[in-house]
Formats: sequence, C-alpha cells, structure tokens
Amino acid sequence: MRVMTSPIDTPDERVCERCGRIEHWNDDTITWNVAEQDENPAIGSVYCIHEWDINGAFVPVSDVDGDADVDAKA
Ligand SMILES: [Zn+2]
Repeated sequence: MRVMTSPIDTPDERVCERCGRIEHWNDDTITWNVAEQDENPAIGSVYCIHEWDINGAFVPVSDVDGDADVDAKA
C-alpha cells in the first residue's frame, strides 16, 4: 500500500517579489510565518499586495522571441 503524498509539492519558503517579505511554512500551525533576516522579521511592506515567487504561473526565463535559434540555421 502506498502512502499518498500531497498532490501539490508545497514549498517551505516563499518570497514576495514586490517588497521582499519572506515567509516560512510552519507545519505545526499550518500557516506561513514571517522569516527573520539579520534578527529582523522580513515583513516587507504591510501595504504590499504580496506577489509570491511560488504562486501562479512560475515562468522560467526562456528564449521567448527565438532569436537564439535563428543563428544555428543560418
Ligand atoms: Zn509583498
């Protein structure tokens, strides 16, 4: 019998791309906790609409315009 793991590969850290807020996942409380950096909580901006680097479409940098491929065929 196999143990089913979460269908979502939940990361244990997320960073806001807008304000730099850093949070760590806490399995005990099932919540995100603000991480600390240099003894200060990395809370970022309270007015920020946090845009987490792990949420939504994570688009890796790629050769979108295709310029790099043209050279090989020339
Ligand atoms: Zn933010």
